[in-house]
Amino acid sequence: MNRVLVTGGTGYIGSHTVVELMEKGFDVVIIDNLSNSQIEVLDGIAGITGKRPDFEQVDLRDKANTFNVFRKYPDIGSIIHFAAFKAVGESVEKPLEYYHNNINSLIYLLEAMNAFRVNNFVFSSSCTVYGEPDTLPVTENAPIKKASSPYGNTKQICEEILQDALIPNPDFKIISLRYFNPIGAHPSALIGELPVGVPNNLVPFITQTAIGLRDELRVFGNDYNTPDGYGIRDYINVVDLSRAHVIAIERLLENRQKQKFEIFNLGTGKGLSVLEIIQTFERITGKKLKYRVVDRRDGDVEQVYADPSYANNELGWKAEKTLEETLLSAWSWEKYIRSKYNAKG
Ligand code: NAD
Ligand code: UDP
Repeated sequence: MNRVLVTGGTGYIGSHTVVELMEKGFDVVIIDNLSNSQIEVLDGIAGITGKRPDFEQVDLRDKANTFNVFRKYPDIGSIIHFAAFKAVGESVEKPLEYYHNNINSLIYLLEAMNAFRVNNFVFSSSCTVYGEPDTLPVTENAPIKKASSPYGNTKQICEEILQDALIPNPDFKIISLRYFNPIGAHPSALIGELPVGVPNNLVPFITQTAIGLRDELRVFGNDYNTPDGYGIRDYINVVDLSRAHVIAIERLLENRQKQKFEIFNLGTGKGLSVLEIIQTFERITGKKLKYRVVDRRDGDVEQVYADPSYANNELGWKAEKTLEETLLSAWSWEKYIRSKYNAKG
């Protein structure tokens, strides 16, 4: 029962986690419907690990086919559930699609866990559940604020569903990982973040601007109540983040949980402003970035960064990579994919 089902495993964080799992000797099967990722990601994973993970192109909203995956792989012992829609702005425009996808997918997976006696579950949650926090850095005990978007609300609702699902299923063991801002790419540059269309997130927008794909970066506000006026976030390297998932799976498999439902913040503990990110990128790449300050973006919080000490102490996990190497990895990935696309014509 060493196999891990990774939903959303061809996506950004999922693909990096699949690599870390495989390098630790876990068998993996990926479920992804490729709605926000490409099948070529499997080549990248194979390029790094030397092995192609099992892959099932299934939509988790299709309960029958989801159950079929559990029949086909009876050795599934745990699940890491990444698959979800994740664009905050889009979720305001298409709330029902977000609720339908993010919540039904989770319900079907929990039903499959029941039916096929799989007990270990790791959930991709987010620091959006804290909204604009009252105190910084944010601990796991900070109050959950009213979600500012349907996307954020799906994360809150999913965490509640998970807690409720535990009551009649005392064998279930669940870890919810609340990510801060994942950035960067695998050091091999064979996998990374591949946003479809215009990126919403800061770092892909920076790298696409630097490579000439976008005219300029729009910086959303410099009139915040922060030391330099720019918004502050906790930017965490995606490989560091992925390693925490392997540790969470090991914790579940080895019954080391303190409670049946555990929550961990995954961040560096350090808040950095948008300007600091831009300046660091310029320094390490030697490229001048074209940017312009515009109005604040609706729904943005002023500042949020983690107190990661619970994860540090309990999981024995710590963010290790520097901002410099993380931004360089994002830049190497950007150059790699652009050269690949240009070569294809
Ligand atoms: P991603 O879009 O790159 O990966 C998600 C994957 O899930 C995609 O490959 C997509 O095709 C797949 N998918 C979506 N719906 C599906 C369905 N119904 N059936 C099968 N596959 C489906 O996103 P990501 O950045 O890797 O995020 C992974 C998880 O982490 C998500 O749950 C997201 O909400 C959460 N998260 C991400 C961030 C971030 O900044 N990237 C921050 C906090 C939390
Ligand atoms: N940001 C920006 N320009 C962009 C994208 C993001 O100035 O094109 C800022 C945003 O206002 C926030 C930070 O960068 O302060 C991180 O935003 P991102 O969308 O990457 O993550 P979020 O914290 O919103 O999940």
